Amino acid sequence: MARVCVVGAGVVGLSTAINIQKLIPDVIVQIIADKFEVNTTSIGAGGLFRPNASHTKGVPEDVARRWARDSWKFYSEMATSDMACETGHSVSSGYIFSKEKIVNPIYESIVFNCREMSQCELTSLGITQYQYGYHITTVLTEMRRYMPWLMNKFKANGGKVEKRKIENLSELYGQFDVVVNCTGLGSRDLLDDQEIYPVRGHIIRFGFSEQRIQCLGQSPLDKAMGIHRGRYILHTKWRVCTSRRV
Ligand SMILES: Cc1cc2nc3c(=O)[nH]c(=O)nc-3n(C[C@H](O)[C@H](O)[C@H](O)COP(=O)(O)OP(=O)(O)OC[C@H]3O[C@@H](n4cnc5c(N)ncnc54)[C@H](O)[C@@H]3O)c2cc1C
Repeated sequence: MARVCVVGAGVVGLSTAINIQKLIPDVIVQIIADKFEVNTTSIGAGGLFRPNASHTKGVPEDVARRWARDSWKFYSEMATSDMACETGHSVSSGYIFSKEKIVNPIYESIVFNCREMSQCELTSLGITQYQYGYHITTVLTEMRRYMPWLMNKFKANGGKVEKRKIENLSELYGQFDVVVNCTGLGSRDLLDDQEIYPVRGHIIRFGFSEQRIQCLGQSPLDKAMGIHRGRYILHTKWRVCTSRRV
């Protein structure tokens, strides 16, 4: 029986490992990672489905669009299924604010709804720092539910897990037929991949009637919605990733 090793236990590693189990039933799949669940970047993600070409640099756009459509099929079915609560998926509406016009983003034609807001809407929300706003209805993934769900599914399918830091992929030579790299930022050290870099952001969760609101940008709705701190979803090169709950 072929042996496959997935290095990394973030959302990419877990999803990859499960898909290998699904597509190739007669393989032994093992995940090796030095950090799990709460210690990964994945656990802190906002979990908004809004893929764009900038997220997949170097990938031809038609391929990125196909990946996005395939992923949307999976996540939107989850979010509208009876399992949504268990897996941590939901349908969520909110706003994206930007100082530049967002031109033809990949998610625009895929998500449930995405439309540019009028100046009148922006003004009535008190948005003055941003010239452009978009109202979007998409899928939100609650990572603190989804990650354990993925791990349980992987183990239930017979997957094995080892906690270990890999210093060099050659350590795995002879033990596995295929090694899949899902180390995320770890690839900077493991494979000297200088193309990958961290982003900085804050996830702030708050109650607002029955509806979840996503706010992306530099806290433009803070005052309107009673938030008195911080910035959230702020992309900056070379900074440590942070997230927190309030
Ligand atoms: C604040 C914030 C908000 C975000 N919001 C969103 C969002 O709304 N939507 C979205 O799609 N994305 C979002 N992201 C991005 C998303 O979190 C990441 O793209 C995603 O989590 C990357 O997953 P990963 O599995 O590649 O990496 P990670 O979660 O970092 O997992 C990497 C794994 O590899 C392991 N590893 C690394 N090196 C080694 C080694 N040498 N040996 C053994 N194991 C190793 C680690 O231990 C870990 O298990 C956000 C990110 C941040 C920081």
